[in-house]
This record gives sequence, structure tokens and C-alpha cells, in this order.
Amino acid sequence: MSTVVMTGCATGIGASTRKALEAAGHKIIGIDIRDAEIIADLSTAQGRKQALAQALEQSGGMLDGLVLCAGLGAQFRPVGKVVSVNYFGAVELLDGLLPALQRGKAPAAVVISSVASAHLPWEKNPLAAAFESGDEAAAQAIVSAAGEQGGNLAYAGSKNGLTVAVRKRVTAWGQAGVRLNTIAPGATETPLLQAGLQDARFSESIAKFIPPMGRRAEPAEMASVIAFLMSAAASYVHGAQICVDGGIDAQMRPTQF
Ligand code: NAD
Repeated sequence: MSTVVMTGCATGIGASTRKALEAAGHKIIGIDIRDAEIIADLSTAQGRKQALAQALEQSGGMLDGLVLCAGLGAQFRPVGKVVSVNYFGAVELLDGLLPALQRGKAPAAVVISSVASAHLPWEKNPLAAAFESGDEAAAQAIVSAAGEQGGNLAYAGSKNGLTVAVRKRVTAWGQAGVRLNTIAPGATETPLLQAGLQDARFSESIAKFIPPMGRRAEPAEMASVIAFLMSAAASYVHGAQICVDGGIDAQMRPTQF
């Protein structure tokens, strides 16, 4: 049996992924603010430190997989937390758990980004410098000062930064023997999406965000792709961002890929 650490396993895509990975025979060590083996708040440096320490303790310092699902939507307030969970909560766990993954068997990691990662290019991402220098307070200050645009900036900016952070690690992780990929979900029926639909500031744009396939995704449709990326069937897939979005990225950016 292989051991996989997962964040954000309590609800939505993470809960569905947990089920799929357990069915495939993996033992899960979940990290979440509730309903998990490790209860930790990934929006704080202290919570991330505690999560890392407990994950290493519970896995005996040897891991076969890592799935990072924890995330907050654009509607969440205070908006600085969106950046903290979506970017710092993922990147710090990636870096902190790489040595344990190196000791695992055919190790692989999957990070849940978003189609929103392509909504602004890295060169125009106002959070890029703060991410590169690891300055969480600066990133929070930028989104807090962005007024009405703060939620969208925090979400798209943090997901853009997250995909870039994964892609920049592809050489080091390849040499370490650990496959690392992202998926970019489109609108998926989860509590995060429902919270956005119930928020007057975001409901119209979310409701209009319907892909060529004409419907939103179910969490299980993300879980099956994550399970594939974690499996031996994906043994040569490394550094990829797989859009699982009903075609919306191709529709919005047909000439960019
Ligand atoms: P969700 O709200 O159901 O799940 C998010 C999970 O993260 C929950 O288990 C929650 O408890 C956990 N979490 C939130 N804050 C945390 C914190 N401070 N510390 C630890 N855990 C925390 O939403 P979801 O839609 O399943 O989201 C999963 C991932 O998918 C997120 O990264 C999200 O950005 C991404 N995503 C979702 C959609 C969508 O339409 N639902 C689209 C693109 C990307």
C-alpha cells in the first residue's frame, strides 16, 4: 500500500479524490481545517509548519504521493487568506515534502490549480514579485488594496503563481525522481462554487462561465484525472497542466497553449 498526503480532503474535489485514491489502494493522510487526520490551518505560517511536521511524523518520513487540493474561492474574505491558502499553502508543502517523496516508491504529486491560472499572464501578475521573494505579507497587501478587484486578483493571481511555481520546479523534481503535475479544473459543483454563486459580486460571472460541453463538472470528474496522474499509467507525464474544463480554455484561448 502506498501512502499519500492530501490537503483539502474534507469537501468537494478533495473529498472525491480521497475516495478515488482509497479505492485504488492508497492510504491517505489528510490535512484540512476539519475532518482530516491532521487538522491545520494552511492560511498561516504556523499552521503550515504544524501540518508539515505532523505529515512527516505520520508518514515516517517516506511518502509515495502528494495531492494539494486545499483552496479558497474569490468570494472569501479577508481576501489575503485566498493568496495564503492557494499559493503559500501549496508551495510550502511541495517544498517541505519533497525529501519524503524522494524516499517513496514511484512517487508523484498533483497540484490543483484552475483554468483561472491562465486569466492573466505571469508577466502581468501583480503578485509575481511577492511570490518569487516568498513575501506573503506583500502579496496580502496587494490584494487587500485592490478594492472590488481584490477577490478575482487573489484567485487568478494565486492560481497563476501556483502553476508557474510547479513548472519552475520541473527540473529539480525530475532529477529527484518525483513526477509533478497540475490540473486546471473548470467550474465544478462543490461548496466553493456554491459560495461564489450565492455571492452577489460573483454570481453572474460564475453563472455565465459555462464551457463548450454545456455543463459544469462533477467532483468525481476531477478525481478520476488526479487518480490517473498519480498512477503508473501516467509514468511519463511530468510538468504538465491538464485542463479538465469541458473545453473552456480552448474556447477562450484557441491560439495559446
Ligand atoms: P471546497 O471548498 O469543497 O474544498 C476546499 C477544501 O480546502 C475544503 O476541504 C476546505 O476545508 C479546505 N480548506 C480551505 N481553507 C483551508 C485552510 N485554511 N487550511 C486547510 N484547508 C483548507 O472547494 P473545491 O472546489 O473542491 O476546491 C478544491 C480545489 O479546486 C481548490 O484549490 C480550488 O481552487 C480548485 N478549483 C475549484 C474549482 C471549482 O469550480 N470548484 C475550479 C477550479 C479550481
